[in-house]
Amino acid sequence: MISVVAPVYNEGAGVDRFVRRMAEVLDGEDYELVLVDDGSADDSWSRIAAHAQTDPRVRGLRLSRNFGKEAALLAGLEHADGDATIVLDADLQHPPSVIPEMIRRWRAGAQVVEAVKRNRTGQSLGSRLGARVFNRAFTRMTRVDLVNATDFRLLARPALDALLRMPEHSSFFRGTSSWIGFTRETIEVEIDHREGGASRWTARSLFRLAVNGLTSFTSAPLHLVTLGGLTFAAFSVVLGIQTLVRWMQGHSVAGFPTVILLLLVTGTFVLLGLGVIGEYLARIHEEVRARPRYLVQEVTGLRSVDVPEQWTERAHQR
Ligand code: UDP
Ligand code: MG
Repeated sequence: MISVVAPVYNEGAGVDRFVRRMAEVLDGEDYELVLVDDGSADDSWSRIAAHAQTDPRVRGLRLSRNFGKEAALLAGLEHADGDATIVLDADLQHPPSVIPEMIRRWRAGAQVVEAVKRNRTGQSLGSRLGARVFNRAFTRMTRVDLVNATDFRLLARPALDALLRMPEHSSFFRGTSSWIGFTRETIEVEIDHREGGASRWTARSLFRLAVNGLTSFTSAPLHLVTLGGLTFAAFSVVLGIQTLVRWMQGHSVAGFPTVILLLLVTGTFVLLGLGVIGEYLARIHEEVRARPRYLVQEVTGLRSVDVPEQWTERAHQR
């Protein structure tokens, strides 16, 4: 059986479009749709529930509030029962027409099939550039390749089980699903324009995603702080010696602006360094608290083998 997991946040009529489209591309397959309502404020949940009533292949999971896409994905993955699980956005920006090919590759032996972007249409130059810079930096620092990566993936059961063993609180699906390894293949796709509504990401949530992604995969920024500190130390020694020599030669050292500038530069560096350390500290704090990564308020269309214990997440029980 094939599971399709999609996070839904205020997609409204998009839900109907999505369910219809899935029925088309998965025609003839034994499949289930796991739709995770990430605390939508619109009628997304009632639409999901309505589909679950009429179609036994549709299951709905309603989180108790908006936990963010990563948490919604995780909730869906933990509830998926398929031998292969496909993850894609509910807004149909990930072209569902690729799904049959993904399934073919899986049947031919691939454990992970990733869709990679050929283009980035429908995005502003700014966000394209931002994503590019972040992905390259991430790939360099972690050796997990994020350039052109998407969340649109197929994971075979062994790969998904491996992924779900990762206990970290703030997960980063794109990163962790690459980190696990396993035989993988890629398919190039065109990312479509969004049908209906605007992107659900705000600048703030994107920034959080980037910081989470980085801190969960690498401590390189911490080493950068150390490196910056060392550079400053070397610079100070050189400057100190120069000043001393000039003083002994009888020149008084001028340069009030230089002093101000140096203060500003060191101040900035110290604050940035503290910020980086703070991010890691916050992460540790979050992990130590070990709160559940999401909470389920309601389920619909779940199979009877799913007992309430499974509604909360597994990692929490460990
Ligand atoms: N989404 C979610 N929770 C959120 C934000 C987004 O579940 O807090 C879902 C959204 O419904 C969609 C997917 O994540 O299915 C991608 O969101 P969006 O299309 O807004 O992002 P973009 O395509 O701009 O990256
Ligand atoms: Mg989208």
